[in-house]
Amino acid sequence: MLNIVIFGAPGAGKGTQSNLIIKKYGLLHISTGEILRKEIANKTELGLVAEKYINKGKLVPDQLIVDVFAELIDQSENEKGYIFDGFPRTLSQAKALDEMLRERKTSVATVFNLSVNEDELIERLLKRGEECGRCDDRIEVIQNRLNVYKEQTEPVKEYYKKKGKLFTIKGVGSIDDIFEEITEVIDRISNIKD
Ligand code: AMP
Repeated sequence: MLNIVIFGAPGAGKGTQSNLIIKKYGLLHISTGEILRKEIANKTELGLVAEKYINKGKLVPDQLIVDVFAELIDQSENEKGYIFDGFPRTLSQAKALDEMLRERKTSVATVFNLSVNEDELIERLLKRGEECGRCDDRIEVIQNRLNVYKEQTEPVKEYYKKKGKLFTIKGVGSIDDIFEEITEVIDRISNIKD
């Protein structure tokens, strides 16, 4: 199994690159942000709770998101592997993910950290807000999301770096060039695994 974490600040291009990766490698895309947005649209109990956090640019509490994530993994079978997009976002989530995968006799193969400077992130998120009307892509919320990223999510990078699993990729430039760099690493890892 090939399990990949796609990591980076809001607006770094995680969703865009995930879509290209799943097409090429047949992995299953699990995006916690997308799942929560669907729950909100369907006005479920979880959606109503999550909405309060998302609209403020805060993270949904760990226990809640870990439970949602565990349920998803249990329901979805994919022998090729997964791409985790937007999860883990805290150290506690990263440890929970390791444990969940260990129980399933697998592990995170690699973590792609898409690195993009803050000005570019803000520009992209504002543009996305205009184009797709995501309610958390507003300037007041964006700044908060970037602060939350720095305080709570960035430490996760160090966690994977210590395990030798972190690949930092410059997330600025053409989408295809960035994808090519990612595929080089995936192909190398797959060869080692085979
Ligand atoms: P995203 O689409 O990944 O940018 O996520 C949108 C929002 O959903 C985030 O700003 C959080 O409020 C919430 N969210 C998504 N994934 C997580 C997670 N792993 N932990 C906590 N909150 C999350």
